[in-house]
Amino acid sequence: MDGTLAYCSRCKKNRVMVFREHSGEKVCKACFLREIESRVRKTISRFKMLDNQDKIALAVSGGKDSVVLAKILFSIHANLITQQEKKGKPPVMITIDEGIEGYRKESLEIAKNLARELNIKHIVFSLENEFGMGLDEVVAGVNAGEVDLGTNLDVNDEQLKNASKILFKPCSICGVLRRRILNDIAKGIGATKLATGHNLNDEVETFLLNMFKGDVNRLERAASLLLESAGPFVKKIKPLRNLLQKDIVLYLYHTKGDFQDTPCPYSREEGIYRGEIQGILNSLEQNHPGTLYNIKKFMDEMLPAISKPVVQENLSNCPSCGSPKSKRLEKCMPCYYIEKIYGKNYGDVIGKFIDSIN
Ligand code: SF4
Ligand code: ZN
Repeated sequence: MDGTLAYCSRCKKNRVMVFREHSGEKVCKACFLREIESRVRKTISRFKMLDNQDKIALAVSGGKDSVVLAKILFSIHANLITQQEKKGKPPVMITIDEGIEGYRKESLEIAKNLARELNIKHIVFSLENEFGMGLDEVVAGVNAGEVDLGTNLDVNDEQLKNASKILFKPCSICGVLRRRILNDIAKGIGATKLATGHNLNDEVETFLLNMFKGDVNRLERAASLLLESAGPFVKKIKPLRNLLQKDIVLYLYHTKGDFQDTPCPYSREEGIYRGEIQGILNSLEQNHPGTLYNIKKFMDEMLPAISKPVVQENLSNCPSCGSPKSKRLEKCMPCYYIEKIYGKNYGDVIGKFIDSIN
């Protein structure tokens, strides 16, 4: 075998450590890390995600994506972050502790250690501490029929039965509450950007899921959020949206980053459809490396063309907290869940929490 093959095809100096299937290159560790960081830098710049006037709230669960998000941002944008700090706008990390036995405790420790390592403020919102019950207890109560599901929609009994099956799944409750709590805390501390660790696989899966379901509204909304302001919500940014999941794992391996590997026990319930799409994409990527990048390229070219502002006629304000909600709903979903499950007012609880951290 030709001895030169053992050296990095980019720098020609170091030993090969990583095979880049999509380009056919064999690269060293330093060139691999540089490529990953450069991808994130380009994504941030292309979509104008950050500037020195921003205050960044980082959603960090302690899983691989959010750990890499925090590490890379502090590595490639150290100067920008210093400028933000000088303006009195230091970044803040937020973790939601849903109360999931055997899962969240470990990742919470990882998130705490990371905040210490990066020397940034870490806010932890615990469902159990703030509302009175963690997700496990809520799920047990729902399964035992102890929660009066009621209705948040103008529907008949049969439709309500079907809607409740979806509405009260663990991931439905968890997803709605986590998204809203993250937004409200970010807003409450004056953050202008909420950074999440969504990666390329997540983005492509969601795109295909919406496409296969013919959900044009969601596709249009995703396009609008990518390009425009987020209205009353804190603008979400996804700096890792051009990184493959496997590259994120590899980046952590090579930078010796700690992350939680155990999947959430409820993740099996997250959706069989998404799981099927993951399977199709994995097989396509294996047989035709680069497929995910190509779909993503198509998305980035195509989404701006279909971007439409959210139609205001379909929106009204939640009578409980004042946030925008679909006109079909009586209340916004977080207010509905918190009232039905905990018998509390969402706005009161989150308001008190924000007062306590400011
Ligand atoms: Fe929440 Fe479901 Fe994700 Fe678990 S898998 S953290 S329950 S959204
Ligand atoms: Zn509300």
